[in-house]
Amino acid sequence: MSDDGRHIEIRGIVQGVGFRPWVFHLARAHGLGGCVRNDAGGVTIEAFGPTAALDAFLHDLNADPPPASSIRSTESRRIAARPAAPFAIVASAGATDHRVSIPADLPTCPDCLAEILDPSNRRYRYPFTNCTNCGPRFTIARGVPYDRPATTMAAFKMCDACRREYESPEDRRFHAQPNACPACGPRVSLTNAAGTVLAVGDPIAEAARLLGEGRIVAIKGLGGFHLACDATCDVPVAELRRRKRRDEKPFAIMAASLDVACRLARLGPMEQLLLSSIERPIVIADRLAESGLAANLAPRNPTLGLMLPYSPLHHLLIRDAGLPLVMTSGNLSEEPIAYRNDEAIARLSGIADAFLLHDREIETRCDDSVARLIAGTPTVFRRSRGYVPQAIPVAPPFREPVLACGAMLKNTCCVGVGDVAYLGPHIGNLENLETYEAFEHAVERMQQFVGVRPRVLAHDIHPEYLSTQYANRRGSVTLVPVQHHHAHVAAVMAEHGLDGPVLGIAYDGSGLGTDGMAWGSEILLVDGPAFARVATFRPLALAGGDTAVRQVWRQALALIVDAFDGTPPVERLALFRGIPDREMRVVRQMIDAGVNCPLAHGAGRYFDAIGALGLDRAVSQYEGQVALEWNLAAAPDEHGSYPFDLETGSAVLEVDFRPAVRAIVADLLAGAHSAVVAARFHTTLAEATSAVVRRVIAERGQLPVALSGGCFQNALLTERVVERLAVDCRVIRHERVPPGDGGLALGQAWVAGPTRDKTGT
Ligand code: ZN
Ligand code: ZN
Ligand code: FE
Repeated sequence: MSDDGRHIEIRGIVQGVGFRPWVFHLARAHGLGGCVRNDAGGVTIEAFGPTAALDAFLHDLNADPPPASSIRSTESRRIAARPAAPFAIVASAGATDHRVSIPADLPTCPDCLAEILDPSNRRYRYPFTNCTNCGPRFTIARGVPYDRPATTMAAFKMCDACRREYESPEDRRFHAQPNACPACGPRVSLTNAAGTVLAVGDPIAEAARLLGEGRIVAIKGLGGFHLACDATCDVPVAELRRRKRRDEKPFAIMAASLDVACRLARLGPMEQLLLSSIERPIVIADRLAESGLAANLAPRNPTLGLMLPYSPLHHLLIRDAGLPLVMTSGNLSEEPIAYRNDEAIARLSGIADAFLLHDREIETRCDDSVARLIAGTPTVFRRSRGYVPQAIPVAPPFREPVLACGAMLKNTCCVGVGDVAYLGPHIGNLENLETYEAFEHAVERMQQFVGVRPRVLAHDIHPEYLSTQYANRRGSVTLVPVQHHHAHVAAVMAEHGLDGPVLGIAYDGSGLGTDGMAWGSEILLVDGPAFARVATFRPLALAGGDTAVRQVWRQALALIVDAFDGTPPVERLALFRGIPDREMRVVRQMIDAGVNCPLAHGAGRYFDAIGALGLDRAVSQYEGQVALEWNLAAAPDEHGSYPFDLETGSAVLEVDFRPAVRAIVADLLAGAHSAVVAARFHTTLAEATSAVVRRVIAERGQLPVALSGGCFQNALLTERVVERLAVDCRVIRHERVPPGDGGLALGQAWVAGPTRDKTGT
């Protein structure tokens, strides 16, 4: 048993998550000397002791790390034994590289939860309890390195008891930057609708009482305000809908525990894991008939968005209320989420009856994330609180730092540096000044946290996107315009470390194509920064342009005029009976004459148009509503399909669904159930996709196939496409970033990253 030494470098999410204290205890338990410290890329350990103890220590390092950490790699080499003092935590080494220093926000850990529920604990019912394993991080960080003075906790001076915890390596709160207690930390208060503080003994208990009475309460959370109400009662839910001007878009629910959640929705083992993961996303699942929830939470939608409490304030509030609560983002439709006290009171006073506030400021707004299990893979729909700013490993690496500005809808930005990318928080639709300002703030923050100011900017080719205009305004940079669907496919490739060639399938609503048309059903051959368009769907006319995106009956009319060669059976279809004659005539004339009828290739357009016919739905109340309902209407056990043609006349293959449209209309006129028609429609899209893929592979040889675009948030479509392709292809899908436009910036950054040589900068 000779003395020995190891130099160990650990990479991944290992800072700000209680990693060093854990290493400290582990090393001492194995009787080792040496030290652990944070370094530029993660954590470095030097350990000395008997060889067997070192080996056991190394094994344990990887076996059971702290819950919020995530080890990407562990490298260990032997070094000469040194007489070492007892194992210690030492200060960070030299020049700091900021890359990994800001962790994502973490949900309350079981130890802290036990404390706030224990009447004998000094933190009993204290809503800002946290430790190195849990608590706010990204949303309170003002600068780097991530230390208390650079957070919004700088305003609070730790009391002696908290200071002792903070300074003791033995303590769970060693270097827990937001450490606080009732004596020294932030406080909650309750105000009325006008923002006047109410004199109540226990603001949380009082807020819970108001919720139980059917009131709407605005609640300050981790990344912004929620609007909450009783989720089991139609009346407050309807009132919230009215005040928030949100017609039919589903509201998310918070359930007190996993047990409660399992009584509200059908949750398999993977969904339960996702729901209780450290990111704590809203998880979409099928609502149970006997859930007891208000029917108007999600009109015409059989699914439910569910989440678990992730802050001590949530735990206390939902226990006091004893009810599942609607927890929807605190904004008016289309605006960014409110995150400052005065701003929230100004903007939400017409919606909320009361405000549950606190005096710990939120520095960067961060909406709840949303995820769903699709074809066996957890798929992130909105990547924000809990995920941001976790590093996304990508390959090949970025030659120099890149900033990607994202899309217009569901905007996020992305900073790429080295072999990782950092996607910023969800901003929403960049359609007004408020969201644009939120976008600029997020860009500045992400650059600051990563410690770079990129000179390469990637952006969409659409000149009117506010994100594109931001890129154009920023001087002394190299601009790299990236086509929308190219970026979608590139995002999957970046995640999987594939440089191409890859056959990318990008299905979504709309994105500008290189020919100036709206694209959205694109099969592209992507090879690094280059792409070629291989196939697309026959385009559909949008009568009145964007008006047709909401008034989906216009798309349905154009679709059948096209499919029936100008003599569609309009009078026999229920959908058109509700449309006033005059409007029908005008729109029909527009379509026949091709006036103000831009053609669009979006796969989403087919969901809109055929969904409108199949469900007798003339108008989408919110973006993509009818398309979503058409997806959710499908009977999963129906496997029939409709005919289609593959037009091979031009350089780009065109999938012609006119035969399918005629067959669908025949089915509907024969009284077929919409669930059956919807399922057959999904299968038809999957068969058309697989027909194109087989043809390309026959010509070019085997290629991996990448799925991206908002349509792959459709579980049934994804399942049916994967079923058909996975038989003889390698199919890659998104794992860490959204298939929709929320993941687009990663693809933009990745296209711009490896092109430095070719653009000569
Ligand atoms: Zn904790
Ligand atoms: Zn204290
Ligand atoms: Fe898109």
